[in-house]
Amino acid sequence: MIVRFAPSPTGYLHVGGARTAIFNWLYTRSSQGKFLLRIEDTDRERSSEEMTREILGGLRWLGIDWDGEPLIQSSRIARHTEECHRLLAEGNAFWCYCTTEDLDAQRGTAEAAGGAFLYPGTCRHLTDEQRSANDAAGMPRVLRFRVPEGRTVFNDIVHDETSFSNTEIDDFVILRSDGTPTYMVAVVVDDHDMGVTHVLRGDDHLSNTPKQVMLYHGLGYETPQFGHLPLILGEDKKRLSKRHGATSVGEFQQRGYLPEAMFNFLALLGWSPGDDREILTRDELVASFDIRRVLKKSSVFDEEKLRWMNGQHIRLMDDGELLRRLLRHRPDDLVDVDEAQMRAVLPLMKERMVLLPDFFENGRYFWRDPEEYDTDGVNKRWKAGIPELLTDLLPLLESCDFTPEALETLIRESAEQKGMGAGKVIHPIRLALTGATASPSLFDMMTVLGRETCLRRLRRAMAQIPVPES
Ligand code: GLU
Repeated sequence: MIVRFAPSPTGYLHVGGARTAIFNWLYTRSSQGKFLLRIEDTDRERSSEEMTREILGGLRWLGIDWDGEPLIQSSRIARHTEECHRLLAEGNAFWCYCTTEDLDAQRGTAEAAGGAFLYPGTCRHLTDEQRSANDAAGMPRVLRFRVPEGRTVFNDIVHDETSFSNTEIDDFVILRSDGTPTYMVAVVVDDHDMGVTHVLRGDDHLSNTPKQVMLYHGLGYETPQFGHLPLILGEDKKRLSKRHGATSVGEFQQRGYLPEAMFNFLALLGWSPGDDREILTRDELVASFDIRRVLKKSSVFDEEKLRWMNGQHIRLMDDGELLRRLLRHRPDDLVDVDEAQMRAVLPLMKERMVLLPDFFENGRYFWRDPEEYDTDGVNKRWKAGIPELLTDLLPLLESCDFTPEALETLIRESAEQKGMGAGKVIHPIRLALTGATASPSLFDMMTVLGRETCLRRLRRAMAQIPVPES
């Protein structure tokens, strides 16, 4: 089995494209097939090498590897043209001299009458003399495929038997007036020459498929097996687009999503393992992938779910690997924070992170003294009695064991002595140490911060936060 992913480098790798790549990749990696890559860059004006690099980078980031070198479609124009001429020689294509203006006028009339415009076959039956006269007069021409009568039927892995009446399909262009082959014919010739046996792609290509099937027949090629994957929708059930927020894989990478989570999430858009598992590693996905379970109906891109999955994959990840990933998201103002310091904090933050930058953004107080204190926290937690309690506690903190257990005993006992509940003391201490109202377990955090930092921050909070009225 040979499949391919055929992105056009006219834009970034979109989540829809990535999902198509993932399904193709899973399909071959679960059955020892080949996964080929083809860069469809024949639209020279809109394609760029930068986008090609970006797309390949996005695939690599997702852990999608391909067999052999990517095929560059524009390097094969001569071959596409040759096959167009074969279609012409064998009577399956004809030159058409209709001008764009004439065709546009006919389209206008048809649409005004409420109908759809189909090329009416004007140049289908020109005689050799008429053609020669047109050529001699230097009239521009395009090569059109001669659509046969009847129906075009193909079996789609997702949609089962799919059939189109050929009367709905007009004699489409295969060579433009500048002599360049169109997408429609280039795809078919390339898929054939690359030995592609299964074409899995987005539903947006379903309407191109009857034309391509006719080309397969016209060229005498064996037709591959098609499978059209359901569309990905935004939360408003409209086709996912930039309007919905981030849609390029690179943006998700930058925001601190793990490729493992992105891969898992996209694999479950339009497919399910057949049980209720949702968190699956790449290997588990390869082991359970079955193309017959691709769903027909479109699926919604739910970013909340992706965030949840990301948190789950963070928890699954080995600490050393997670640290390596985190280093890439370390902000410029925390470059002095080294790996050993991060390693000490990791067990406290791992359970609380959703995206990789959360480690630094939400855990900044592990390395920096708070500059201010959460106002609501101050109003709610910095109550009468707290400064006195801290004054008594400070000398004890200077000499006690700095372990979570010893700190917990000490702080609870101090609270008790003042007739306060432990909560009434833990929250203001957290506020003093972090400036925030939420953090990992106070006692674990204090141990990681160390005695000196804790004492300094407590003193500073006592000096800066106004003494509450009793
Ligand atoms: N280059 C086309 C696209 O990016 C894909 C063509 C195909 O898969 O047949 O939409």
